Amino acid sequence: MPTYAYRCADCGHSFDIYQTFSDATLTECPECAGDLRKVFGSLEVTFNGSGFYRTDSRSGGASGSSSSGGDS
Ligand SMILES: [Zn+2]
Repeated sequence: MPTYAYRCADCGHSFDIYQTFSDATLTECPECAGDLRKVFGSLEVTFNGSGFYRTDSRSGGASGSSSSGGDS
């Protein structure tokens, strides 16, 4: 059974819910009746991961030799 994650754009309330394809997509936040958005878990992971790797490789390649030289 598919699990869908939702997050409210108004109050930030997030939750997971089991739904079938026949169930209607939720659009209203149960907490504040605000604008509810469907969240895809892989989207957040890809976004954070790509930013982390880009920063890590850039700083490591630029200052890698000088940083390791100061070790001794
Ligand atoms: Zn809300």
